[in-house]
Amino acid sequence: MSDIKTQLVVLGAGPGGYSAAFRAADMGIDTVIVDARETLGGVCLNVGCIPSKALLHVAKVIQEAKHLSSHGVTFGEPTFDLDKIRAWKDSVVGQLTKGLAGMSKMRKVKHVQGYGKFTGANTLEVEGSDGKKSTITFDNAIIAAGSEPVNLPFIPHDDERVIDSTGALEMKDIPEKMLVLGGGIIGLEMGTVYHALGSKIDVVEFLDQLMPAADKDIVKVYMKTIKDKFNTMLETKVTAVEAKKDGLYVTFEGKNAPDKPVRYDRVLVAVGRKPNGSLVAAEKAGVKVDERGFIKVDKQMRTNVQNIFAIGDLVGQPMLAHKAVHEGHVAAEVIAGKKHYFDPKCIPSVAYTEPEVAWVGLTEKEAKEQGVSFETASFPWAASGRAIASAATDGLTKLIFEKDSGRVIGGAIIGTNAGEMLGEIGLAIEMGADAEDVALTIHAHPTLNESIGLAAEIFEGSITDMP
Ligand code: FAD
Repeated sequence: MSDIKTQLVVLGAGPGGYSAAFRAADMGIDTVIVDARETLGGVCLNVGCIPSKALLHVAKVIQEAKHLSSHGVTFGEPTFDLDKIRAWKDSVVGQLTKGLAGMSKMRKVKHVQGYGKFTGANTLEVEGSDGKKSTITFDNAIIAAGSEPVNLPFIPHDDERVIDSTGALEMKDIPEKMLVLGGGIIGLEMGTVYHALGSKIDVVEFLDQLMPAADKDIVKVYMKTIKDKFNTMLETKVTAVEAKKDGLYVTFEGKNAPDKPVRYDRVLVAVGRKPNGSLVAAEKAGVKVDERGFIKVDKQMRTNVQNIFAIGDLVGQPMLAHKAVHEGHVAAEVIAGKKHYFDPKCIPSVAYTEPEVAWVGLTEKEAKEQGVSFETASFPWAASGRAIASAATDGLTKLIFEKDSGRVIGGAIIGTNAGEMLGEIGLAIEMGADAEDVALTIHAHPTLNESIGLAAEIFEGSITDMP
């Protein structure tokens, strides 16, 4: 690998990094993107958002096929060919990473494979997988090195039966009994997949609610839908995991703790992700990294060093791909001389569980904390024609309005396809729409989206009939 001189180097080729690199190249900036992986796409495409959704698709189809028996259509018990399931997931990932490689080539973005570390405010050293080193000299840099799963000190992570999300996506086998340690989105998504494929799933969460960032009323509906799928232990923590020949013996403590250690075939540790800010020798470039590994940036994604920007998981929560993408665009545009800022009114969150749980803007919890005067209106899916016709009545659409203005400031949906529906609420928030705007928007009938218009009508007090 020979030394390179470029206008912009992007360190990390996840959704933040490749979006920044492509936008910069589109604006005529000579751009190099560096990633330790062979393929572009980062965590999201390779071991995150996309492979998990490919497997969740499989899980959804299995569940729907089972439900059909109550509608008069019965399929046989599903049989699983793990190699083929894995191949399906890998083909989805491959299709997208190949697409990214093509887009990169088309834009003449140079992809350097290797591990990058700063050696100064204008130099990055990259070590290739063959051990050879090269230096990239740059005018500007964007750090987009993402995050990695958090390990816990009292857990034998070196035992191959203890897995993180990447291990879970490898699908080496289907364990008979698996513990999901952590009741956040990633753990619950993977739990959904393994349950559909036949595993018995226990979920343990230290807090008093799964998906702690979402509002209680929404999660309550989710809890109802999963009661036969997962054994959930809230307000309970794991204090030890002992690896024995016949399984992993887990000791619990807390409100719902079993009184003796429980044996599992696998333990999936999904207790959050830590930023990779400390792993790129940012200090050599003068960039400040906090003790947790986050890099502080301003609204233009600029670090404390004028020519170095940072985006994505390593600049803070929420650690989500779409946030990284938008931050990447801002950083590239600022480097190109545009006066752009990352200042969204809201960033959507979606758990692609079965059913999905999605929220955007302020939650009730946040509105209370911020002293915002608000009202809510909810439409239960049990009253939706489309939901009834689709056997999807376990759902709820909630809108949160600023009390005086009636403006939409938040919303949440639990139910099938909630993530797809959430965009309308996000747009309403960004556009400053009020309840009347949403209520007067004619939604097609019968759709699940109608529930958004109907929730607004409830707030308006103008609801006349049910679909
Ligand atoms: P990343 O995607 O983390 O990419 C960083 C890249 O930098 C990596 O490829 C890494 O190899 C590279 N890198 C790091 N350090 C160096 C170095 N020193 N030298 C060279 N390369 C380096 N988010 C969603 O929005 N929706 C979802 O549905 C979703 N599902 C997820 C499911 C799972 C199982 C996981 C784990 C995550 C999921 N996420 C999801 C989160 C999402 O993947 C991240 O928020 C997103 O990938 C962050 O993008 P990023 O650009 O910050 O960096």
